[in-house]
Amino acid sequence: MNIHEYQAKAVLAKYGVPVPRGGAAFSPDEAVAEAKKLGGPVYVVKAQIHAGGRGKGGGVKVVKSLDDVKAEATRMLGMTLVTHQTGPAGKLVQRIYVEEGSNIKRELYLSIVVDRETSRVSFIVSTEGGMDIEEVAHKTPEKILAFSVDVASGIQPFHGRKVAYALGLEGDQIKQGVALVEKLYNAFTTEDMSMLEINPLVVTGEGNLICLDAKIGFDSNALYRHKDIVALRDLTEEDPAEVEASKYDLNYIKLDGQIGCMVNGAGLAMATMDIIKLYGSEPANFLDVGGGATKEKVTAAFKIILSDKNVEGILVNIFGGIMRCDIIAEGVVAAAKEVSLGVPLVVRLEGTNVELGKKIMAESGLPIISADNLADAAEKIVKAVKEAA
Ligand code: ADP
Ligand code: MG
Repeated sequence: MNIHEYQAKAVLAKYGVPVPRGGAAFSPDEAVAEAKKLGGPVYVVKAQIHAGGRGKGGGVKVVKSLDDVKAEATRMLGMTLVTHQTGPAGKLVQRIYVEEGSNIKRELYLSIVVDRETSRVSFIVSTEGGMDIEEVAHKTPEKILAFSVDVASGIQPFHGRKVAYALGLEGDQIKQGVALVEKLYNAFTTEDMSMLEINPLVVTGEGNLICLDAKIGFDSNALYRHKDIVALRDLTEEDPAEVEASKYDLNYIKLDGQIGCMVNGAGLAMATMDIIKLYGSEPANFLDVGGGATKEKVTAAFKIILSDKNVEGILVNIFGGIMRCDIIAEGVVAAAKEVSLGVPLVVRLEGTNVELGKKIMAESGLPIISADNLADAAEKIVKAVKEAA
């Protein structure tokens, strides 16, 4: 789960991390009220969307008067901001953040991620802040320092000194850097973050270190123990189909292909996506309906798959282990009738009561194409979609 920049800064501030003062606003008047609290002389108006690269897209503006705060707030609220991270469709700006302007001397980069290879928390730092870190990694990899922290001994002052040295900090900034590294690490681990990116981390003209931008992703599996973080969720930033799916406890991820998939079990769902590709088409989604798929769940899943305009056919691939195939077949038939299916549907059932399940589908009067195994199912749906086109 991701949150907005202003929320991320509030979370970090709780751990003593230095961030600029500021306030969120949903209207131009609120923006001016927030700016007045700050007192100036420089304000920064920042569009709040779950994507970076806002600066280049016109979503970050430095201004020097309350009139300009109002003008920029008016311009940004309601605009569709397109950045290299939003994709061509862009994102609608519904809230903005007004913060005090910083006197920037240097822009640096610092992020913390969970490194799956080492199973450790890793720091990535670079002197090339304010830029796309992927580009820095590509063109000047020598300007990036990455290291991981041993879970058993935790964060140590030497980690901080390593960062300070890599970032070329001097004098008192070294002390600030060491303290910052420890605070960010504590925030990261205590709040169960999966990603924390400060780009840029700046050195101000006054010689202070401040986090000027903050992006946080949280580990969804740990959200149950962070009610206050869950409250920060902005559903308008998430894919509507994925939000709908989460209501039914369905694991759904939208993809770009044409074949909608409904499968039980994540492993089987992955294998189904692979085999669709093998037979020359592309999956429209990942969907794991879970072990105890009820008729209601199957119906909801059908509706979610069909809400995707790119879907030209559906492949249902269910292994009836604990679930019985006849129950699944009844669910599929009822759901297909309810949503008045307009695209080819291939169903592959295997497991307990498979014959009864097949019989229910055959006698349903629906044009359900039955398949005997995974390869047969993939071949049939790809062919049916081609013929229907
Ligand atoms: P994004 O990464 O989405 O483009 P940032 O918050 O990193 O957004 O802002 C982009 C740039 O705008 C920063 O690299 C910095 O140069 C400038 N900027 C952002 N916030 C401030 C601020 N409070 N004071 C001065 N400049 C700022
Ligand atoms: Mg940034």
